[in-house]
Amino acid sequence: MSAAPLDVVVIGGGPAGAAAARLLAAWGRSVRVLAKPADDARTLGESLPPSCRKLFDLIGVTRDVEAAGFLRSTGNTVWWGGEGPRAMRFAGGGIGWQVRRSELDRLLLRLAAQAGAAVEADAVVRRVDPAPRSGPTGATESSIRYVGGGAPKSVAARFVLDCSGRAGVIARRGFRRHAAARTTLALAAVWSRRGGWGLDDESHTLVESYGDGWAWSVPVTAEQRYFTLMVDPRVTRLERGGPLAPCYDAELAKTAVLGPLTAGAVLNVEPWGCDASVYHAQTYGAPGMLLVGDAGSFIDPLSSCGVKKALASGWLAAVAAHTALADPGLAGVALDLFDEREREMHTALERQSTEFFAEAAGRHDHPFWTDRAEAGMPGAAPPEPAVDVLRRDPAVLAAFDALRRAPALRLQRGDRLAVVRRPAITPRRIVLEDRLAVPGWPDAGAVRGLRFLRGIDLVRVVELAPLHRQVPDLYEAYNRICPPAPLPDFLGALSVLIAKGALQVADDEPRA
Ligand SMILES: Cc1cc2nc3c(=O)[nH]c(=O)nc-3n(C[C@H](O)[C@H](O)[C@H](O)COP(=O)(O)OP(=O)(O)OC[C@H]3O[C@@H](n4cnc5c(N)ncnc54)[C@H](O)[C@@H]3O)c2cc1C
Repeated sequence: MSAAPLDVVVIGGGPAGAAAARLLAAWGRSVRVLAKPADDARTLGESLPPSCRKLFDLIGVTRDVEAAGFLRSTGNTVWWGGEGPRAMRFAGGGIGWQVRRSELDRLLLRLAAQAGAAVEADAVVRRVDPAPRSGPTGATESSIRYVGGGAPKSVAARFVLDCSGRAGVIARRGFRRHAAARTTLALAAVWSRRGGWGLDDESHTLVESYGDGWAWSVPVTAEQRYFTLMVDPRVTRLERGGPLAPCYDAELAKTAVLGPLTAGAVLNVEPWGCDASVYHAQTYGAPGMLLVGDAGSFIDPLSSCGVKKALASGWLAAVAAHTALADPGLAGVALDLFDEREREMHTALERQSTEFFAEAAGRHDHPFWTDRAEAGMPGAAPPEPAVDVLRRDPAVLAAFDALRRAPALRLQRGDRLAVVRRPAITPRRIVLEDRLAVPGWPDAGAVRGLRFLRGIDLVRVVELAPLHRQVPDLYEAYNRICPPAPLPDFLGALSVLIAKGALQVADDEPRA
């Protein structure tokens, strides 16, 4: 056990662990990553959507990812629910990545080490023991036991990030809930065909649903593709410990498009199975530790967003851990915010997959589809108040009209307006910020409050509005102290504030 505890130990060297470790090290934290060696033979080929780029930027790895030579993709071609082909290009002409995961993981780990993280790439964590709470802030120090290079070792850390994916070194100790109706086994194999596959767009991920499963093919070079089948192991005739190849072949034969595509292709890697059942944590951390990426929750691979979610989660975990270490008084706030955001991210992505499943269930009347279509629907959080809904809101339209007609502004703070302090995430730290809330808006319990609407700082507008009699003066005053805002957005935000009662027309007579 080293004498001084490290700031952070990261368990696992997948995208979540590498992202968190790189950021924390770059911010001056002492970080050690304990990572199992990658399995090159049975690594998956995965699709990353173009929106991953924002996260690569945030983590500071875009240039290296671009230079790594991964195949770039323009979208997906889908045969879903008996319909298709539907060639779906990424929105706005975006370009995604098709990666062999062991290659991406090695690259991200190398970049974490470059930023100053100590990476032990042959380490298997066996046990994590949180030390008893010390001090009034509940700061903890954990002892992490692992086998490194074949020898038993241990290390102490003030913060532990469980980034061990499905293994869930900490997460499995009672944090997770599995969806019993949705057991999915992925049967993967790697194929190649000289001269390519004769597709309209060879870079596309191919997706096909069939009676009781779905098939998916990701290219990693012009000639090599992964063909993976998602099945329910309880209804597929698959003996535990038995050979997978016959089952793989039988499932592939059920497809109308992807199976025939492999005719005449060379099987490079024999089928293997990996669990793809969904789960989520009840709570995503405890004092001194967080469940990050797949350790906390697993979304259906259909979304192609697992890596993106892991990178986002790694970034947020780094921000939360950095905040807690720098200011133990904010440790609880950081933990709550991480928990809340992980929950939201999981729910939003689940909802997305559920819509696809519902589409297939309409066509294939089989429990494989109907179970998945129903999951995630009840209890899903209502969507955030959307700007297009506000634009159609009669009260907002009326407020906008009144603003246009009124010869002068006479606004004051709404009687029911509350300014609440809520945690907000900046690129490195969690801070407390003022937000507006009126009963019933922006959320039913007025719990979270709202600070910005289309980039307009609502708190500042409410402060400035009573001081000005003309809209142009108010707009100019706002732009002097805030980043310049487009006039339509500013007027829209002002109308919403009036319509929702955060601002109200001033009384003619001064109040007693
Ligand atoms: C069949 C299938 C297809 C998928 N397709 C896609 C796709 O196309 N696009 C996409 O974005 N996502 C896809 N995903 C999801 C994606 O793989 C995961 O969401 C992503 O890998 C999560 O990253 P992570 O860092 O949280 O976990 P992982 O990538 O699982 O990393 C965890 C790491 O921890 C290590 N580890 C485990 N136990 C220990 C231990 N005791 N000690 C030390 N290290 C340990 C593991 O070896 C691993 O390296 C797919 C998943 C499956 C199953």
